[in-house]
Amino acid sequence: MAGPALDELAPGVFAWVAPEARAGVANAGVIVDDDGLTVVDTLMVRSQWEPFAEAVAALDRIVKRVVLTHAHVDHVGGTAMFRNAAVYASPVTSDLLDQPMALEAYKAFMPAFADEFDDLAELGTRPVSHLVEGAAELTPRVELLPATGHTPGDVMVLVADADVLFAGDLCFFAVTPLAFQGDPATWANVLDAIVELADTIVPGHGPVGGEREVRDLQAYLRHCVAGEIPAGPWDEWLERPERDPINIERAALLREKKDEIPPSMLRAIGLG
Ligand SMILES: [Zn+2]
Repeated sequence: MAGPALDELAPGVFAWVAPEARAGVANAGVIVDDDGLTVVDTLMVRSQWEPFAEAVAALDRIVKRVVLTHAHVDHVGGTAMFRNAAVYASPVTSDLLDQPMALEAYKAFMPAFADEFDDLAELGTRPVSHLVEGAAELTPRVELLPATGHTPGDVMVLVADADVLFAGDLCFFAVTPLAFQGDPATWANVLDAIVELADTIVPGHGPVGGEREVRDLQAYLRHCVAGEIPAGPWDEWLERPERDPINIERAALLREKKDEIPPSMLRAIGLG
């Protein structure tokens, strides 16, 4: 299968979309402003972020800013590739990046990349340099919008002039979302706002989509909250057997006011 490439969705707005959205394989983006580039997320391991960083370098502009949509390792692994850029993220993301990497959990959860995590641990990730504590105009083109749902510290990146939203993991298209640290009920509600923001949505995982894909995701999350998932468009999604129990258990825990990692997730990372 061919590797991803920078796809110019609108003038100066690029998506880097992985051809196969299996666990540990995320998307990224690049936006061109007059003063240089803003990179959205940095993928996970060297085999992913080296080709991405090369494609970004080929744009022949300074990378001024990196925005991290949240702290999950499949989005933050390559920050060291952009060493002169300011790093923007939520306070929650900043705190998590200051913690040691959960190497053994990563290896258990994403065995396809187990060999690459030691390299990542050695390299490390860069700390957040600029906290995103509210909606902010980052550049003339780029707006940062904090949210919660997938994690307690999500940030979305809106390029209004191009009608493009980089939603981070608030959107998974054609692949089952993962809410082990999220709140499926809140997440489903946030999606109402997301469809109003832009017609073209770059998800954290899966192909570029729009309102139809967001509404499918919303319906799936509401079924997780209800505790039972009937047949639907999600029947075609990747990772259903692995992720359904995690999402349903998480919603049930939150309903009991227990902000805990679901037991099925603990098992998946080798701790159950
Ligand atoms: Zn995530």
